Formats: sequence, structure tokens, C-alpha cells
Amino acid sequence: MERYDPTSIEAKWQQVWATERSFHVPNPDLGAADARAPKSYVVEMLPYPSGDLHMGHTLNYTIGDVITHLRRRRGFNVLRPMGYDAFGLPAENAAIKEGGHPRTVTERNIASIREQMHRMGWAIDWGREISTSDPEYYRWTQWLFLRFFERGLAYRKEAPVKWCPNDQTVLANEQVIDGHCERCGAEVEAKSLTQWFFRITQYADELLDEMELLEQWPDRVLTMQRNWIGRSKGARVTFRVEGSGEELPVFTTRPDTLFGATFFVLAPEHPLVSQLVVGSEHEAEVLDYVRRTAARSEVEREGKEKDGSFTGRYAINPVNSESIPIWVADYVLMGYGTGAIMAVPAHDERDHAFAERYGIEIRAVVRPADGDEPEDGGAFSAHSADEVLVNSGEFTGLPSPEGKERIVEWLEERGLGEATIGYRLRDWLLSRQRYWGCPIPILHCASCGEVPVPNDQLPVVLPDIADYVPKGRSPLAAAEDWVRTTCPQCGGPAQRETDTMDTFVDSSWYYIRYTDPNNDALPFDRRIADYWLPVNQYIGGVEHAVLHLLYARFFTKVMNELGLCSFREPFARLFNQGMITARGAKMSKSKGNVVNPLDFADRYGADTVRVYTLFMGPADEDMDWQDTGLEGVWRFLNRLWRVAHEQAARPAGGPGDGALARRAHRTIAKVTDDIERRFSFHTPIAAVMELVNEIQRNPDDPAARFATETAVSLIQPYAPHVAEELWGVLGEGRLWEQPWPEAAADMLVEDVVEIVVQVNGKVRERLHVAPGTGDETLLALALASEKVQAHVGGKEFRKTIVVPDRLVSLVV
Ligand SMILES: [Zn+2]
Ligand SMILES: [Zn+2]
Repeated sequence: MERYDPTSIEAKWQQVWATERSFHVPNPDLGAADARAPKSYVVEMLPYPSGDLHMGHTLNYTIGDVITHLRRRRGFNVLRPMGYDAFGLPAENAAIKEGGHPRTVTERNIASIREQMHRMGWAIDWGREISTSDPEYYRWTQWLFLRFFERGLAYRKEAPVKWCPNDQTVLANEQVIDGHCERCGAEVEAKSLTQWFFRITQYADELLDEMELLEQWPDRVLTMQRNWIGRSKGARVTFRVEGSGEELPVFTTRPDTLFGATFFVLAPEHPLVSQLVVGSEHEAEVLDYVRRTAARSEVEREGKEKDGSFTGRYAINPVNSESIPIWVADYVLMGYGTGAIMAVPAHDERDHAFAERYGIEIRAVVRPADGDEPEDGGAFSAHSADEVLVNSGEFTGLPSPEGKERIVEWLEERGLGEATIGYRLRDWLLSRQRYWGCPIPILHCASCGEVPVPNDQLPVVLPDIADYVPKGRSPLAAAEDWVRTTCPQCGGPAQRETDTMDTFVDSSWYYIRYTDPNNDALPFDRRIADYWLPVNQYIGGVEHAVLHLLYARFFTKVMNELGLCSFREPFARLFNQGMITARGAKMSKSKGNVVNPLDFADRYGADTVRVYTLFMGPADEDMDWQDTGLEGVWRFLNRLWRVAHEQAARPAGGPGDGALARRAHRTIAKVTDDIERRFSFHTPIAAVMELVNEIQRNPDDPAARFATETAVSLIQPYAPHVAEELWGVLGEGRLWEQPWPEAAADMLVEDVVEIVVQVNGKVRERLHVAPGTGDETLLALALASEKVQAHVGGKEFRKTIVVPDRLVSLVV
């Protein structure tokens, strides 16, 4: 028997798979029989082409590989492609550091990561590879942008935006995590700029309501999306500025507390602020406050002690005509609601803190139905259905939910407000002031305004420029020859848009392009897309819950309405993998504990790395890499190697229906069920390990050879190279083309029976024995039990009854 040498085995099979294009899956002949064959579309979130494959990739793509192999062998027509999210900051920043061009860096990284993927032996259809920075791809990103533009779903407006001072570009709300840039961690700043947006808010209801199509998504992702969209029922209520009559609309989810509004707050960016104070004694102080808050980040604004500045003006509360002071305070954000609030300090914590600080009246207007009258000055917000209104004029005494409705009706009758639905979701800010991105296909013409680049002039190719370092405005603006062009509508001079698209636009539709990657007439053929999609299994990190996963759903809905595809949701089933720490700590270069999967693949083989990556624990939880654990897997594969060679020397007889044969069948059932139904990838490995132990204990069992073949077959999705090699040792054919083993139902029964032992009619013991164990043996086993002895201890038997396979009854 040769020694297990993963290096030569893995190179050999990788060569076979590459030259034979073993995992290439052509599109079905639509309309022919194979279009009706069950299909399965497996997609992992596409990687940024950083130079090195890291553990996150290894986990993600090994999960995808296991599912791909399993489904292929179960008879599905499985598509499993790969591509690169190649535009964006990582490549551009790397290029700036090295002094190269982002395209050069990107191409080099793609070549390197592709090579490393081959080295891991993943079963990818390389015939469908795409790169989002390829003009043949981004031509269609631009084409889709123009369809959005035609429908009013892409538009430009001046708005307060989040600015990353480090990356020198704006960010989408979704890219700001607790006030910091999602990519580089820098604290973001506020700016007012003219930017491009996608009108994702128009799809807020569909994004919420169509979650019912996502039964196989993790609950936490659905909850995060639901909270991010933040739909709430409430009312739009119009306050007016005393004196001028200017309207001040607010959105509130608690119209039942309107009588408790004792002050009014405008965000510092609210356009009315300067107008309200102009020429007044408060002007200097208020404008100074506005200036100071502009420098604060959103975190500072939300976290710090609430402060503000009084404008000297008053607002009229529509329900009771009271004049309440108007303040400017930065705990109110312009980006949410109307940028103005009615403040109800008795029932809102932030309003309460503010009122206490500035000595503003705190008036309770709801109280628990069974509680005491609340004291003014206290704050509570039970938000329960059991509250009743107090101090609320004609509405006093009404239960809160009814009070809400009646007050809104009252406002509607008088034209002072209306029932409405509010959302937390904002439009998606898609333009970036960076070079390495997809150009926005729009021209600016002095007489025609924003003009779309005609379809036949796509793609608008990203020009080569010498200096692409960000300086706060798009580096493309410096490419004057490129910027200057002719308006296709009036023939006059026009200028190209110089901002580029956020990379999240590129990745919002790539999973459909895979199905038809060479189409040069359309982004994809509708019939082909409809055959493959929705994606049956999507795999990626939970960090994309309100970024990519929300954007892709939005894009799909729009593409559906454009008639490009018939599905409404892109991903039927989603799996979020966990994070891998190393030897107890988060991996980081500074700690020097980064585990490079390829280093271990060189020493132990890719199979060992693949198996261990999934063996560490439940793949949807965080897992810790331990070198000793990896060595354990290495020893297991060596044991499998020896067992397979030993068994290959034995005659292949019928396995029979003994214990080991049953054990093998139960293992088949467990592995299949754990992966397909329970998303559990570590337990199947443990089950195969136990089966191999069992074979080692009973090498002469008539089923040992069958059990060995089963173990090799079941481990194939995890360790495809060594499994392939051992399959050849045990018999004929190629394992990756073999049908997945099926468990025989009658072999799944545990091969033991339970015998109840009674003493004087009471159950004292349960024995587990092989079926058909003889009466004498059963009686001897019963009497050998300590529990039984405790009740018969030396006494004489009046009667003993033995029912085979069921019962031993002793009467003393
Ligand atoms: Zn940043
Ligand atoms: Zn024009």
C-alpha cells in the first residue's frame, strides 16, 4: 500500500477536471426534455479579488462545493459558477499603495485567486466566469441603470450625505455602521452634495411583503431587513409657525400623545431654520449652534447629552392651538421623517432629557388603564394597548388605540393631518467620487439637462488616466477630453457624468449574468434566466443583510417589472456562514494569527483543509481554527486511506443486513438529511468518522467492504480528491459521476430491541439486546443488573416470565 500523498493525488484530479471541463454545465436546450430536469442553482457571494484566498472564502466555497457535489450526484442539473466583484476600493487602494494601475492590480489578483481556487479543488463551472470590471459586463450594468433612469428610479438630487474622509467619497446609509465607514472604519462626516440615488423607497412595501417568498432565509436576516425598512403606521400632522403661518409637517407614530407636545424641534439642517431666526436676537446663537453641530458625526449626535438652541419662534399645535417653543437640536436628523418633530417629553426618553435640561414643561397625556394617574414630570412609554388618554380634551378617557384613530380622523376632517405610513428606509445613494468603478452613462447638456447615453454607444468605457488618487471630487473630472462630448439630443456641447457607481450596483445582478454570460444583445436571455433562477442556494456572510441582499432584491423586482425576468425574488434559500477565528482570537495581520488556507493545503492537502474547515463546528456560527483539530482530520483521512486499501484486498461480497450494513445505511441517511434539510455540515463528517471506526473494529464483517465504499462515497463532497483516488482503488468508474447512495428504509431500523424487566409488576430496568436473544440469556442479564438485585436480593422467586424481545417479569 502506498502512503497517502495528497500533493500528487490532488494535482492529478485537478488536472483531469480542468482538461475535461468536468463541472461545466451547458444551458439546457429550452423546450427540450432536459429543460424540465430538476435544476439546482448554487451561488456563493462573489469575492473581491484581493490577492489571497482567506479562510472566509474557504468556508463559503467549501459549503457551496458540498452542496454542489451532493446535488449533482442526486441527479440535479447543478449550476455553480464563479466571478469577481472587481471594481471598488480594495483594488484601487492597493494600486495607490503600490503605484500601479487598478486594472493591473485587479487582473493580477484575479489570476492569483483563480489559481488558488483551482488548488482547493472546488467544482466550479469556469466557462461562466465574469468580472464586474470587464466592459462586456459593465456595459449591461449601464444599460440597466438607463432603464432605471427612464422609469424615474435613478435620479440626482442635492441631499445631506455621509462622507468618508478617508476614502474621499460619499457612502450609502447602508454603508455607515454605527457612524463609521463600512469599509475602512473611519468616522463619517455630513455633507450636502448633489448625488445619484436609486428610488428603492418606492419598493419598501414590496421588499417587506414579498419576504413571505423567503421561507428558507435565516430569521435574523429577515428581521434586520424589516427593521432597516422600518415601516410604521402613524400620522402626518401639520403644525404652523406662529406669526407667519408657514407649515411644519411632522410624522408621528403616536398621534395619541399630541396633547402632550410641549415643544417643537427642527434638525439643524432643516431649510427653515435660518429663515425663522433671520434678523432676530437669536440669530447669531442659533447659526453658531448649526455650525458647531455640522462638525459632529451622527454617532456623536445620537449618543451625547442632548443640547439645542431656542429660535425665539413658536409653533401652533393643531389639536389645541397651543403655542409651543421651536428649538433647533441635533438629536433630530434631517435624513429621517421630515427633519422636524413634535416633542412629547412625558412619553419619549430623548424629549424628556432635553426638556429636563432646558426646564420645559413635561405633561403626561397617557397612563396605564389600571395604574395611577401619572405625575407630571415623569416619563414613561409603555406603548401598550392598555393605555388610556388623559389631559387630552375631548379625547380624554379613550383607550390609546382608539384615541389614535379618533385624533387622526379629527385632524383629517379639518385638513390638519392624515393617517400615513412611515418608513425608515432612505433612497440608495449610488454615486461615488472614485475612479475604479462603473461610469454612470449620463451626459449633462446645458439645454437638455440630464441626457442618457444612447444604448448603441454603450459601454461608456472607463478611460485610462494618470492620476486616480481621490481628492474629494471624482478623478474622472480631470480627464477633460473624455468629459467633453456632444449631446445626442441637440448636438450641442455636453459633459459626461464623472462620478462612478458604487460596487453594490455591479453585484446587484451578477447572479443572473452567470446564466447567460456571453449575451451581447441583452443582459441575459429571459428564458435562460427563468430556467435557472431563483437561486436555489445562496451562501454568504450576514454582514450583507441590509446591503447586497436588500439591493439585489430591489434590482430583481425592477428587472421583473421591466419584463426581463419572471421571478420577483432572486434567492430562494440563503445560508449565512459564520466567522473563523484563529486559536481563540479574531484573525488579524497585526496579531500575526492569520491562517492562510493555502499554506495548510501545501502541508496537509486541500482535502484536509476542506474537511477541517467544515468540521470545526456549525458553519453558521463562529468557529475557531486549532492546528490540533486540523491534524485530527489529517489522521482520519490517513485512516480512511488504510481501511480502503485493506478492504480492496477482500472479495466484494453481499453486505447482508447485519449491524455494520445497517450502520452504513443509517450514515447515508444522516449525511444526506443533515446537509440538505438541516444545513449541518459538521455532523456528517463525524458520522463518517464513526462509520470508519466501526469498520476498523469489524474488518472481517461481510459488510465491511460495502461500508468502506459508503464512507468513501459520502466523504466525496468534502474531500473530492482522496475520495476519487480511493474509489479507484475499490472499484471502477468516477465517483463524481456516481449516483449518491440511497439508504434502504428497512435498513434504518436500529438493530436492537428493548427488554423491560419487572419485579413484582414494577419496571426496575430496561435492557438493550439483539433481537432474538434466548430466554436464559435474558434472565441472566436481568439478574446481573444492580437495579434488579436491589429488589430481589436473595429472595425466592415465586414466578419468572420471559417474553422474547419484550419482557422479563420476576415475582418474589
Ligand atoms: Zn472609508
Ligand atoms: Zn442637448
